[in-house]
Amino acid sequence: MNAAVDKKALATWIDKNKKPFEDLALEIWEKPEMAHEEKEAVRLQTAFLEKRGFRVTQKEGLPTAFMAEWGTGGPVVGILGEYDALAGLSQAVTAKCAPVVPDAPGHGCGHNLLGVGCMLAACAVKEIFAAQNIAGTVRYYGCPAEEQLTGKGEMAKLGYFQGTDLSLAWHPGDHTSVSDSVMTALVSAKFKFKGKAAHAGGSPEAGRSALDAVELMNVGANYVREHMIDQDRLHYVITNGGLAPNIVPSDAEVWYYARAPHDGELRSLWNRLVNVAQGAAMMTETQVSHHILGGCYNTLANRRLNKALEENLISFAGSAGFDAEDLKFGREIQATLPKDQIEASLAKLSLEGDDRILDSTPLPCFDTGTFIMGSTDVGDVANMMPTSLLWGATWPVGVVAHSWQATACTGSAIGLKGMIQASKALAGCIYDIAKDASIVSEAKEEFAQRREGRKYCPIEDLLQA
Ligand SMILES: [Zn+2]
Repeated sequence: MNAAVDKKALATWIDKNKKPFEDLALEIWEKPEMAHEEKEAVRLQTAFLEKRGFRVTQKEGLPTAFMAEWGTGGPVVGILGEYDALAGLSQAVTAKCAPVVPDAPGHGCGHNLLGVGCMLAACAVKEIFAAQNIAGTVRYYGCPAEEQLTGKGEMAKLGYFQGTDLSLAWHPGDHTSVSDSVMTALVSAKFKFKGKAAHAGGSPEAGRSALDAVELMNVGANYVREHMIDQDRLHYVITNGGLAPNIVPSDAEVWYYARAPHDGELRSLWNRLVNVAQGAAMMTETQVSHHILGGCYNTLANRRLNKALEENLISFAGSAGFDAEDLKFGREIQATLPKDQIEASLAKLSLEGDDRILDSTPLPCFDTGTFIMGSTDVGDVANMMPTSLLWGATWPVGVVAHSWQATACTGSAIGLKGMIQASKALAGCIYDIAKDASIVSEAKEEFAQRREGRKYCPIEDLLQA
């Protein structure tokens, strides 16, 4: 038996069997569903996987989450799928802003590709493990509501991730590489102030304004900014500012996101924010209460697992094979972007002066020690077990996620080809994990060291402990 030839069967299987997966990714793209509303995506994916011999389980309490499992024994490898879309990003597959349905959702983050690409890897692993008698279990996780950053934390509370040794994920993007950057930890919380209504003109002295409290809280929070670390973030919207100017508002509410590079720093930022809210309540003689809507951990790369994934991305997955037509569409899409946006993306990739448009050539992992000032609930899983994530080129350099350009590309041949490349890297990595027990043991050892033995608990519990 030749190990390389045996493993190649995975890529051959993917190339031969990709069509129904491509169709499924496009079907989900055509029916974009928002966070926690992904009923059709879940119906399509569970039916697809059941038909192909996966055991599908769903736990009560989170209707658009599921797990599809195949195999026996260890190692148990999870692949993190997603399928939610974004508000207002409906867009046709064309190089000008043209919603299919105005104001409707669209797949501007490519989660239609993200989920199905993971399914394709899981199915390829199943077929080749069965044919070659390889022991191991593969779990495809159907994760809801990534765009609200809470789906995987909620799945964790239901016990979905118990018994999984390690996890792999990928995300659509403008380049192809394994990621070692940190995406920030986040808490989402609403602060409600309760005051006293009164005639704002006739008897203002009888009123206590909840809106004043919200405004003072925001002023206080803005003064915190000067004394927080560079990677901390605070953003807010006022969700209730009162009813009419002639009534002193008795109720007001402000909704905050706080982000920090790691959960420990998030805790200290959160405590300061709660103090600011209490100060605002004291100044205005109102009462304040808060409600944490959810949150997520910072990502935590696992370098041993990253190495295994990167070897497969560079030496096994091949390129996405973008052809002249893809490049033409990519060029047209890229032409809609401001020049400095493209230059900033090239600089991020250390490719200044390069004129690349669309390129799936894997870059070596380049982002160790950097921060991405967004968040993902993959962070929750990454703080439960060794986890590795790769970016796959599914749109031209300079396009950013959550844009109409991204939606156009994730419904095009460009998106599908990037998805196939990513699925090969994931499948190849799972193959290596099953063949070489040292990957799991070394990844787990590194994970334990980096977590310093701390047990995972959901962000809201951590902040309120
Ligand atoms: Zn996303």
